[in-house]
Amino acid sequence: MRIVFATSEVSPIAKTGGLGDVCGSLPKELRKLGHDVVVFMPFYRQARQYFEREGVAVESAHPPVPIVWANWAAQAGFHRTLLPGSDVPLILVENDYFFDREHIYSTHAGADDFLLRYAFFCRAVVLGCQLLGIEPDILHAHDWHAALLPVYLHSGLRGSETFRATRSVFTIHNLNYQGAAGPDAFALTGLHSRYWAGDAVEHFGTVNPMKGGIIFADQVTTVSPNYAREIQTPVHGAGLDGVLRAVSYKFSGVLNGIDSDEWDPSSDPHLEANFEAGKLHGKTVSKRMLAKEARLKYKAKTPLIGVVSRLVDQKGFQLLLPILSKLLKAGAQAVVLGSGENYYEEGFAQIAAQNPESCSVWLGFDNELAHRIYAGCDLLLMPSMYEPCGLNQMYALRYGTLPVVRMTGGLADTVVPYDGTNREIANGFGFVDPASEDLYFATWAGMLNYKDSRLWKTLQTNGMQHDFSWSRSARQYEATYERALKG
Ligand code: ADP
Repeated sequence: MRIVFATSEVSPIAKTGGLGDVCGSLPKELRKLGHDVVVFMPFYRQARQYFEREGVAVESAHPPVPIVWANWAAQAGFHRTLLPGSDVPLILVENDYFFDREHIYSTHAGADDFLLRYAFFCRAVVLGCQLLGIEPDILHAHDWHAALLPVYLHSGLRGSETFRATRSVFTIHNLNYQGAAGPDAFALTGLHSRYWAGDAVEHFGTVNPMKGGIIFADQVTTVSPNYAREIQTPVHGAGLDGVLRAVSYKFSGVLNGIDSDEWDPSSDPHLEANFEAGKLHGKTVSKRMLAKEARLKYKAKTPLIGVVSRLVDQKGFQLLLPILSKLLKAGAQAVVLGSGENYYEEGFAQIAAQNPESCSVWLGFDNELAHRIYAGCDLLLMPSMYEPCGLNQMYALRYGTLPVVRMTGGLADTVVPYDGTNREIANGFGFVDPASEDLYFATWAGMLNYKDSRLWKTLQTNGMQHDFSWSRSARQYEATYERALKG
């Protein structure tokens, strides 16, 4: 099959979260299954910097050409390189006005032109395929940024030679980011007025690309089976649960995998010492080094709790802030790496300032430090309000760090909480209600059980030996593509 990925993020080139991880790994696994995969992403400033830093050549695939759509015209240039560590072609869509910005999702001169930027990106993917002679069997669009592609495909592209046989798959990585904009923005999509309708991209008077992707894709997936169930209910459906129920015949959940080369404690170059299940000395060294880096006193018998996350409401830190000091008092140390909303950044910084002996906070994004935290901690907290899949808990499991999670979304698909009777299968700790006390008791259960080193090793081994690699999920995507082609 020839599969074209359209995505806003690709790890390690430009990423803000799990979307980047998936689009950096899945294409390589599909390639291993023998498919012909091409990835399109915007040529962000961050991507340029990445290639410069790495000394990787990026060659022009096509000189800039104008794209005219709606009442807009903009130039798109196309550059070609390979997805790092693979032979998968990566096409970078260049337009400096849209993509040369301080952050991946920066506004322009204070105005948020997100719909215009990504409508342009979708148009450029279409044009890029035509100019470069790429005739996809499957156009796999990721998240709202690429959601207009299945709509464009429906709106007439099948008449073009390039897309004659193309079927589309749309993957929801996070339903809460829908790219919705006011009604005036409909003109920016360049779609025929037929698409300004409740059974297309119009949603209660707004333009909603995510809705369009869900309705017009031949198959729709999301990133865990449990999240697929949850978002068909009003509580988690973010206003689109009815739409998702209506398309349930073509909607499924495929659990993300992890890049088992990048996230491998037995060979991770970011660690002082490597380790694996059954040979955990390197984990003790990692804990010691992390404590040093965090300016905390190394205490072998004190559980070290970690957080690596975007600091936003979704991640449930409103549950953690009120009880973190109490956890420290109860005998834990904590390290936090994250960035996001001021409220959380200041809240964590304040707790660290009040507890310099037991808590350390880094505000920012640091992938290498993230590796050292997964390796050096004993527990990783993820009290998420919702979590489409969650990768952090899988990295933690692989690195022998037991996750403490709220049982939602993909967290419930991957973490088996220890309840005193299930040591053969348990790999972490969990709670259900979004309440600080419940998070406290789940974490405290982790801290108490940490003292039982034989039990702890069993739980660690259960997590470390579980297969979270992409190969199983890639086969499920392959089956999804086959269904799309038959449909
Ligand atoms: P989401 O996509 O909702 O942010 P995921 O758990 O799916 O959550 O993916 C988060 C990814 O981003 C993981 O690879 C995690 O290690 C990384 N990450 C999040 N915050 C940071 C940070 N401050 N520094 C380094 N990596 C981070």
